[in-house]
Amino acid sequence: MVFERKTKGFINIDPIQTGGRLTEDAKMALLEWGDGYSICDFCQGRLEEIRNPPIHDFIHEELPKFLGCDVARITHGARESKFIVMHSLAKRDAWVVLDGNAHYTSYLAAERAGLNIAEVPNTGYPDFKIEADRYAEVLEETKKRGEVVLAVVTYPDGNYGNLPDVKRIAKICSDYDVPLLVNAAYAVGRMPIKLSGIKADFIVGSGHKSMASTGPIGVLGMKEEWADVVLKRSQKYKNKEVELLGCSVRGVAIMTLMASFPHVKERVKKWDEEVKKARYFASNMEELEIKQLGDKPHNHDLMFFHAENLYDISKRAKKGRYFLYYELKKRRIHGIKPGLTRYFKLSTYGLNWGELDYVINAFREIIEKYKSD
Ligand SMILES: *Cc1c(COP(=O)(O)O)cnc(C)c1O
Repeated sequence: MVFERKTKGFINIDPIQTGGRLTEDAKMALLEWGDGYSICDFCQGRLEEIRNPPIHDFIHEELPKFLGCDVARITHGARESKFIVMHSLAKRDAWVVLDGNAHYTSYLAAERAGLNIAEVPNTGYPDFKIEADRYAEVLEETKKRGEVVLAVVTYPDGNYGNLPDVKRIAKICSDYDVPLLVNAAYAVGRMPIKLSGIKADFIVGSGHKSMASTGPIGVLGMKEEWADVVLKRSQKYKNKEVELLGCSVRGVAIMTLMASFPHVKERVKKWDEEVKKARYFASNMEELEIKQLGDKPHNHDLMFFHAENLYDISKRAKKGRYFLYYELKKRRIHGIKPGLTRYFKLSTYGLNWGELDYVINAFREIIEKYKSD
């Protein structure tokens, strides 16, 4: 039974979908390596030491170079990467400081690791910015309540696509002697980013979100000094890393990540073009009186919009608040959640200029259509 995918052939602007589409090489890898433990034929007990296929070189050489870190590992996703770091650093009654735009999985990882959570608030409507200096205030206050074992910054966040001043945040955290984790689920594989350039301690990425991989798969990069703690070995099984439960991704997902990697390395160099497209799209939406929130001009393909006009239509449209979803579906555009009209996010990543105009025109047509009602 092969289930049909209903959105096949659609323009997909769902932010979680645009950077995870497979390359042709990855599709071939998917068939070649689809069997269960396919990569483990020649394993001697450690995933990152497998030389055939060349996982060893990927994890020990190519990936650290790409992430600008000393040591890298493969995990099952950005959330697992965050949990691994938090769990290995956690202490009784200790704290983690998160930015107010943090992804829900940062909260869950912290909860699962038994950490208390303090938040650096955003500036609220319409920019929702995370201001670097607020980290100093929150670290100062939180340190009075207990030990802060980690700070996290989401770069960019998954709602507004805002890019905070991560270098300054790293400097502040280092002044307070608190390690910083950069959650770059929407950055690694899309835009140029290196841990070494930021001078933070950990970097986290998502293969299925931004590295053209099947997933679930994530990447974790760190400075050498953390490897002993985060990657400590089992007492009983001396070659197994405890936080990774021995081995993480044990099959096809890593082969798709590796197959797409040469393409991903090239595409991050074309990031300027993606930003140009995003800005073009945003300014056209603004002409339709759909307001782009967050950083302006915007610096990322993930954008959040505020549309009072679409909301007004939803109050009188026959399909109610689902009207936008169905109107877009009719035009073979997918990715805005059914039922949303007033506030929604989307991504222009990987769309060509013709597709951008097609989507903009669809919004224009829909607004026009209901105007005459
Ligand atoms: C999507 C997302 C995640 C979760 O990524 P997974 O790889 O699916 O765990 C975490 N953080 C942010 C900011 C995200 O956008």
